[in-house]
Amino acid sequence: LTILGIESSCDDTGAAIVRGTAGNARVMSNIVMGQAELHAAFGGVVPEIAARAHAEKVDLAVKQALSEAMVSLSEVDAIAVTAGPGLIGGVLSGVMCAKGIAAALGKPLIGVNHLAGHALTPRLTDGLTYPYLMLLVSGGHCQFLIVRGPDEFTRVGGTIDDAPGEAFDKVARLLALPQPGGPSVEARARDGDPKRFRFPRPLLDREGCDMSYSGLKTAVLRARDEVMTDNTLTAQDQADLCAGFQEAVTAVLAEKTRRALRVYMDLNPGQPMIAVAGGVAANQAIRAALTTVAEEAGAGFTAPPLKLCTDNGAMIAYAGLERFALGETDDMTLQARPRWPLDKKSAPMIGSGK
Ligand code: ATP
Ligand code: FE
Repeated sequence: LTILGIESSCDDTGAAIVRGTAGNARVMSNIVMGQAELHAAFGGVVPEIAARAHAEKVDLAVKQALSEAMVSLSEVDAIAVTAGPGLIGGVLSGVMCAKGIAAALGKPLIGVNHLAGHALTPRLTDGLTYPYLMLLVSGGHCQFLIVRGPDEFTRVGGTIDDAPGEAFDKVARLLALPQPGGPSVEARARDGDPKRFRFPRPLLDREGCDMSYSGLKTAVLRARDEVMTDNTLTAQDQADLCAGFQEAVTAVLAEKTRRALRVYMDLNPGQPMIAVAGGVAANQAIRAALTTVAEEAGAGFTAPPLKLCTDNGAMIAYAGLERFALGETDDMTLQARPRWPLDKKSAPMIGSGK
């Protein structure tokens, strides 16, 4: 199967060609056009600007994905597109582009849940077999999922407020570091002393796999204000705050993963496998901590290459491939959805009234 995937749910326009079968597919091309510079002045993603940029770039991204893969549109078996969740204007840009191509060529259209794209990435990168435990940790989400199939997800806990990616972004803003905050906070943390500031580890004292990250950024704000003089932070203060914050997030994720793995192992006999995905999975400190958790529990561990952690079209093409292989397609009534939880029955709302 050769699938074109289109992603436009946040601030990256992605288009990619993925070829193969379920559990054995290859990325032929993966074009990601970021918008960081468009949003930089605003300190965050501006939905209207994002939507317009997606509309302007998506055709070019598709063209480049095809030419880099040396695949013509006529060779594509189906067009997969993120149908949600995400910023609705951006999602609409992608869905409209995909519908246009599907209609013009008479090819099947497949609406993909963006989160399923992240959650199925280890099937694409490592050919992981079902079931596995997934920690999906990104800009808008943080949850443990038992993944049993392309459309079968059981949530075993997650954040009750902010996502860690959001916390990284907010902390970067507090410390005058560039957006997206994840990579810039991680880079500064390398020069910092993680022990200087002792930030809270929310909900560690409580049972279960739920997490909370909104208090953490408030703690960083308070610590910053204490060390700031004349409205300026020294480079060392900045680095220490980053290191302390990153260590707190890492400690919470590691301990909660340990617990989720226990839940998973109770339910699923056999060799346990844990995978991480989403933008925050690009963080080296977090990857290292999770590797240790898996080792200690005798579980396997996998994390996608960095470019497949953050938003991209390849994961959408691949998730579409899995649905297509099961004979699931959508029609021109496919709708863009701002919200679309994974653990509910995740087939898109289509004309058939599913
Ligand atoms: P969602 O997938 O929940 O809809 P999203 O698509 O915006 O949200 P992703 O693109 O998966 O999220 O991830 C982006 C987030 O990942 C941002 O918040 C960013 O700061 C964070 N991130 C990226 N790289 C790193 C890193 N090295 N360390 C920590 N966080 C990171
Ligand atoms: Fe994402």
